[in-house]
Amino acid sequence: MTDRALTPETLAAQALGHVDGPTGALIPPIHPSTTFERDADTGYSRGRVYARADNPTFDAAAETLTQLEGGEATLLFSSGMAAATAVFLALNPGDHVVAPRVMYWALRGWLLDFASRWGLRVDLVDTSDLDAVAAAVRPGQTRLIWLETPANPTWEVADIAAVAGIAHAAGARLAVDSTVATPVLTRPLELGADIVMHSATKYLNGHSDVVAGTLTTARRDEVWSRIETIQRQNGAILGPFEAWLLQRGLRTLFPRLRWQCHSASLLADRLAAHPRVAAVLYPGLPGHPGHDVARRQMQGGFGGMLSIRVAGGREAAIATAARVRIWTRATSLGGVESLIEHRASIEGPTSPVPDDLLRLSVGLESTEDLWADLSAALD
Ligand code: PLP
Repeated sequence: MTDRALTPETLAAQALGHVDGPTGALIPPIHPSTTFERDADTGYSRGRVYARADNPTFDAAAETLTQLEGGEATLLFSSGMAAATAVFLALNPGDHVVAPRVMYWALRGWLLDFASRWGLRVDLVDTSDLDAVAAAVRPGQTRLIWLETPANPTWEVADIAAVAGIAHAAGARLAVDSTVATPVLTRPLELGADIVMHSATKYLNGHSDVVAGTLTTARRDEVWSRIETIQRQNGAILGPFEAWLLQRGLRTLFPRLRWQCHSASLLADRLAAHPRVAAVLYPGLPGHPGHDVARRQMQGGFGGMLSIRVAGGREAAIATAARVRIWTRATSLGGVESLIEHRASIEGPTSPVPDDLLRLSVGLESTEDLWADLSAALD
């Protein structure tokens, strides 16, 4: 064995390679215990007190993700929404935040509703436009810029390094929802972000059987300890079985993502030439407005998510989704099975998503089967 640093692929496949001390088991045990033995002198020399903060089953997934993101610490939450909202709740009422115009719709809804009533001042801008981001920032008042890149469901790409520069010059922090890119394709902390967030419900777990969220920090600072306190007090933690499933899912993250990127890219090329498709939204296509930034920022692929705008509008899009047999009509993304979804009708009347858009989450099926099914449904 050399001293060469292990690659992220190896770290993920082995979940850092820990072997359970007492048993020699390669796979970590699940600890359902909610409480841990106290020492006779009232101390807790083994470091664990109560499972709302301390469950050892969190460790494998949390530590693996810390390594994959190149951060200092990771917290596992009960959902992506719980993780994302904890970052905003660590601010103070009256603080100003800048977030994307197109982003995960439930978080946008929460920012415009609960967070605004709570006292945050929220500006939604096109975060792929650096001038728009710079113009929205209020030095001394803006405390957080939130990015989602590529952004669900039009896959706009934000330049993380450039926005980190804008945020830090104004005394604000940068948090990035990297759910779609995953650490396989982008490491936001290396590009200057302070916090990276995932809906681990998606690619990190990858099997559509866990709802989870994560935050990884570049450093243990005051904001991070506020977030830790919020999680502990609000109790938005993952169950031990879900945390265990998450470490299992992480082990196959790299090969899954690489297959999904390859397949999505082939489908994007073919769909772009299909007469019933008005537009393909995929950062890997040279015509996508975020393609140049994506080429710099995403290593080894452009993700497994794409959207199409169907010629003929809303009715044609819904009819296309009604005809598929191998793709499944369902929400969510990042699982092993391919999903197709008419987004505007789930997001409702305030959605900025075009009516003719179908969102495609490419799974692990044969690309040829997926293509045959989708092109027949479009025809
Ligand atoms: N961020 C993105 C990009 C998402 O797609 C989602 C869910 O679809 C979330 C955040 C919210 O995650 P969760 O559903 O795990 O709460």
